[in-house]
Amino acid sequence: MSVDPRREKGQIKYGHFISNCYVPRTIALTYDDGPSENTEELLNILDEAGAKATFFIAGNSNGKGPIDTTSKWTDVIKRMVEDGHQVASHTWSHPDMDEMGSQDRRLDMAKNERALANILGKYPTYMRPPYLHCNNQSGCLSDMRDLGYHVISYAFDSGDWMDPNNLTAMTERVDRAFQSTDAQEGRMLLIQHDTIRTSAVNLTKYVLDMISQRGWKAVTVGECLADDPERWYRDPAWISLASRSKRGCVVSGRDFCGDVRRFHTKVECFRSNVQCEQAALECMNSGSTDKKDCEKLETICSMQFLFCSTCGEPEPPCDIGNFNVDKRA
Ligand SMILES: [Zn+2]
Repeated sequence: MSVDPRREKGQIKYGHFISNCYVPRTIALTYDDGPSENTEELLNILDEAGAKATFFIAGNSNGKGPIDTTSKWTDVIKRMVEDGHQVASHTWSHPDMDEMGSQDRRLDMAKNERALANILGKYPTYMRPPYLHCNNQSGCLSDMRDLGYHVISYAFDSGDWMDPNNLTAMTERVDRAFQSTDAQEGRMLLIQHDTIRTSAVNLTKYVLDMISQRGWKAVTVGECLADDPERWYRDPAWISLASRSKRGCVVSGRDFCGDVRRFHTKVECFRSNVQCEQAALECMNSGSTDKKDCEKLETICSMQFLFCSTCGEPEPPCDIGNFNVDKRA
């Protein structure tokens, strides 16, 4: 993945802390450390309110197991994107990034990129450092710039981590935040944790009520910064289909998960290819899906057809493990 071009796109700075929204009357709800047992319910609450949020995902922290090989996490992360939320990185193992060397830091980021690409077919350009520790002296910020990340802080801390069961303390803090001068303009970036149940469920409902009373809109971080959704993610230069998690997408978009079914023989390869073409066609005919995603899948189907036609004669074997999708194609 280190070979990927990390072009800087758009107006939003890279390798630089951003702590508030730019767009008036928007609020960015952000959730760190997940997914967790509360995330599915949180997604239902957001969905009911028509609210969008941003999830800063830690790939393998708190003993939850790797996100790309634990199917309940894989499913919930796919749902985030399908529901129109933004998926961002919170590192792989949740380390203090100022306390590690550049090489370890980049490796930890790369692991999360690979895992998210295994699930979504793409990886984020937005990240939040654990404990917000990422400074210039340690070289962390320049690493994030090299890797092409927007570094996201927050304007207001819900403080949910201080007393995880005390809803009153959390709502009082949020009340104060909404009364502050910054919030009068209706631009706010709030931090919560979906690993903390009272925060994910109860506090979210409370905040959504306040937002609707004020006529504000709960949006993703990208949207509250007026950054084009195209720039929230990067395509990996290649995808090894064999390394993908079982229910991962090669192309992931809103309401759409383009998949290539596993195959181990020439016959299965062609059968899988027919399914690929059908999925691409259905995508094209559906009203709701972004046509760019359908075109991406179509390109991959054509590459698969070529692969099926030439594999096994005698090399390479007709196995999904030998079919790598070059995303630059
Ligand atoms: Zn965290």
